[in-house]
Amino acid sequence: MTEPLPNANKADLLPEPTERDAPFWEGLRASELRLQRCSACASFQYPAESFCYDCGATSLQWERVSGGGEVYSFITVHQRYHPAFGDNTPYNVSIIALDEGPRLVSNVIGTPSNQVTVGMRVQASPQALTDERSWLYFRPA
Ligand SMILES: [Zn+2]
Repeated sequence: MTEPLPNANKADLLPEPTERDAPFWEGLRASELRLQRCSACASFQYPAESFCYDCGATSLQWERVSGGGEVYSFITVHQRYHPAFGDNTPYNVSIIALDEGPRLVSNVIGTPSNQVTVGMRVQASPQALTDERSWLYFRPA
């Protein structure tokens, strides 16, 4: 990885995996995007929960998903709010609408922030921040 990552220095700030969302983090470590899927209504959801957001069922399983999606919205951050975010401003914080339905917050890398557009097709691109932890980024598809 030669390009600067918007939050590559924030490994210490990463949330600790919980019993509930550990499969999500393990997936990133394996360069996969994994989401919970309801066994009753088949909908995908994020973030992980103990019940289905759509139907309330409690039978949820983890599935690898395509990682494809599009930029639903984004902002460009010019201010350095924390030293851990380094000198990589400006960077984007984007809401990604996954092809499977859920939306999540991430960063689009591999393109200048001023090239990110609403509707841009993107692909999940997990990147290792430490030997044990990876973070979910997206790249233009
Ligand atoms: Zn459901």
